[in-house]
Amino acid sequence: MTTTLHKPDATTGTRSTQDIHAQIAQWTAELGFDAFGITTPDIFHALQYHPATALDRFIERGRHGDMDWMETHRARRRDPHALWPQVRSVVMLATSYAPDEDPLAILDEPDRAALSVYARGKDYHDIIKGRLKQLAQRLASATGSDVKVFVDTAPLMEKPLAAAAGIGWQGKHTNLVSTSHGSWLFLGAILTTAELPLSAQHADRCGTCTRCLDICPTRAFPRPYELDARRCIAYLTIEHKGHIPHDMREAIGNRVFGCDDCLAVCPWNKFAAAARETRFAARAETANPPLCDLLTLDDASFRQRFAGTPIKRTGRDRFMRNVLIAAGNTGNPHYEPLVVAHLNAASPLVRAMAVWALAKIASRNAVAAYADAHLPLETDADVKAEWQRARAITATISATHKEAR
Ligand code: SF4
Ligand code: SF4
Repeated sequence: MTTTLHKPDATTGTRSTQDIHAQIAQWTAELGFDAFGITTPDIFHALQYHPATALDRFIERGRHGDMDWMETHRARRRDPHALWPQVRSVVMLATSYAPDEDPLAILDEPDRAALSVYARGKDYHDIIKGRLKQLAQRLASATGSDVKVFVDTAPLMEKPLAAAAGIGWQGKHTNLVSTSHGSWLFLGAILTTAELPLSAQHADRCGTCTRCLDICPTRAFPRPYELDARRCIAYLTIEHKGHIPHDMREAIGNRVFGCDDCLAVCPWNKFAAAARETRFAARAETANPPLCDLLTLDDASFRQRFAGTPIKRTGRDRFMRNVLIAAGNTGNPHYEPLVVAHLNAASPLVRAMAVWALAKIASRNAVAAYADAHLPLETDADVKAEWQRARAITATISATHKEAR
């Protein structure tokens, strides 16, 4: 999202650059930001690696999956000047959403849904955009400049810009890490036509650590500092619109919306105090709810339950696709009636995952009976393929059992 504020008539050039730096520091603290830094839109040329080159490699290798917007807006993303030719300085803002408990503990409770920390509270776009606008207004008034504000959705490389602005560094998991706030930072940006004093860049403090790379359940890092989004559970469960590949489903476990594994193991998190913004905290309805509750959500109850959170934006069908994968991964036959209820869903995405889940939890005889009833009526090619695969798997199991006897 982008907002442009135009310069007021007065006060141009009335403050020294150091004054304005101190003033921005005071404003950011007042408005609830946890860190800020200032960089130049030309900074990418001065970094040890060129973020635009990394972006090109990411896209050319297809690692962005079906996030077509990354390719569509690649030129603007590569260079802040392409986004706004008049920009002279970039003010990067960071807000902590550090949890007050171990976000990985829920992975030991397969009957409950692991929802990513960032998504459990009020949508950060709404909170941060309001603050950014207030800060931008003050900056425009004080400097007589034009300003634009951005939160997450604009074609701007926020992580390398935040690193260039000295807020932290891009860790081996590719996200920003801060010595004060660990891996838990929401980022926002203000672009301005004002020439502002620059902050010093932050050194990379990963050292020999590889914890984030080692814990990844889907091996989504081809090498340190590179991510293949197509293998990342956060991408697969949130951004990916289609069927989740077979070889990824078991590794998803009970991660129904996003994944925090690589963020949560970063040793720098031990310096992160819990977020000050209480609206980022989990609500009762998003605090890792039982799968059996989520499996009964229709569109209206999904919208009601997740109103105001980032989860609502994915839509009910994609969410239910993920819940069904988690139900299948329990291996628990008690879920059978709740899963069967989705075999006639209007969405092929949901029907297909109901078939997959059923094959994981029901007896082979039950799977064969459901296939006999549903497959002849099925019109969607992907769902048909799921039924055929489920049948083949249960037949294989049956043959193996006979041989064993
Ligand atoms: S979010 Fe999860 S799946 Fe994605 S790279 Fe990190 S650990 Fe791997
Ligand atoms: S877990 Fe280790 S390697 Fe990964 S970002 Fe944190 S410090 Fe760097």
